Amino acid sequence: MVPSAESYPSALQSRYVAANPRSKALFERARSSFPGAITHDIRFLEPFPIYIERANGSRKWDVDGHEYVDGFMGHGALLLGHNHPEVVAAVQAQLAKGTHYGASHELEVRWAELVRELIPSAERVRFTASGTEATHLAMRLARAYTGRTVIVKLEGHYHGWHDQVEAGVQPPYDVPISIGIPKATLDTVLVVPANDLGAMERALSSRRDIAGILLEPGGGSSGQYPTTKAYLEGLRDLATRHGVVLIFDEVITGFRFAPGGAQAYHGVTPDLTTLAKILAGGLPGGAVAGKAEIVDRIAFTGDAEHDRFRRVAHAGTYNANPLSAAAGIAALSIVKTGEPHRKANAAGERLRRGMLDIVRRQGLEGRVEVFGETSIFNYNLKVRAADGTLAPAPVRAYHALRLGMIEGGADIPAKHGWLSAAHTDADIDRMLAAFDHALASMREERIL
Ligand code: PLP
Repeated sequence: MVPSAESYPSALQSRYVAANPRSKALFERARSSFPGAITHDIRFLEPFPIYIERANGSRKWDVDGHEYVDGFMGHGALLLGHNHPEVVAAVQAQLAKGTHYGASHELEVRWAELVRELIPSAERVRFTASGTEATHLAMRLARAYTGRTVIVKLEGHYHGWHDQVEAGVQPPYDVPISIGIPKATLDTVLVVPANDLGAMERALSSRRDIAGILLEPGGGSSGQYPTTKAYLEGLRDLATRHGVVLIFDEVITGFRFAPGGAQAYHGVTPDLTTLAKILAGGLPGGAVAGKAEIVDRIAFTGDAEHDRFRRVAHAGTYNANPLSAAAGIAALSIVKTGEPHRKANAAGERLRRGMLDIVRRQGLEGRVEVFGETSIFNYNLKVRAADGTLAPAPVRAYHALRLGMIEGGADIPAKHGWLSAAHTDADIDRMLAAFDHALASMREERIL
């Protein structure tokens, strides 16, 4: 049954409201300050989100005193867990020395050296303040380098919130994910179906204005729309043959799929790579890395005519800020060992396997899909439509699942989440018990 509006608020929701009075009070207070009372689209949760007070390792605690195993892990930034001691020590030491010099400093040099050491495509690095800024800059670089305008992106792939990448993120793919974007901007981006080399070949062969191909090499929307090594290899070949810049957006996969990101994991090297999240050890930060001949378009040469008219301009108050650099160096020095990946991937494997077992045991095959790779878990909910066919579940079903998980002591995002090296077997077992409880509660209420 497709849940009707009347089937919510559910018993799950009533219990949630009763258990979280302080979160509810903060939500009510936040209403007058924030649109919809929240500060990030992903934090939208009916009837209100939980408010977190502190976090450590794999866990976080809310203002009502509940403890959760965290499946958000800083939106994927915290591969090492919350407050890794070496990251904390590096940030604390740097804090006493200054948070912003408005000048070059040694930490940025070391940070970039680590990126170059780890990421196969990284001949040069330019730091930004976020992943959104990184994809924005990468697109500009591709256009400057080729002298062409259009960037091809893939259906279902997410690259941040700037205007150009809001096309083709969610179905229906011909409608951007946000209003307020000029058509002229959307015309500079061509959206093609993912995993379809024929469609990409046709796009590249039929027009002369394509500057680059931008994609998530771990699959669209953090692996929600999986991809394959063969597809990435095909794209590499097409990009080379057509002289377009291949851009891997590794904001999620960078340093997570492997110390060298999805490009090392799959053995396919792009021309440009965008990075953020794990890059800065849980603090804000991003980067574009890639071929020197492309990234060097940013460099001043001292030739006044070149520097004024033939250069890619790029500023940003928080580029390579010392705190992020200190955290990033500490984090990447640990990432380099490959040890966090062994632990986080094992946690991912255990979670996905356990979730699938629960789905089978509860007889929900087809209605709950569980998949994912490395330390990322993905899931989809389906509901039976009036005509008996299975259809994507409404947002509210994901909210119900989240409420059930929260009640069971685990906080996970809708559709996909991220694990860390701090997640133990006991953490995963607790997440699984919460998942079991959430699905059972949803069945009880005929939401699933
Ligand atoms: N690219 C990908 C693949 C992402 O997942 C994200 C954010 O989740 C971004 C870009 C945007 O990064 P940020 O949120 O740091 O702006």
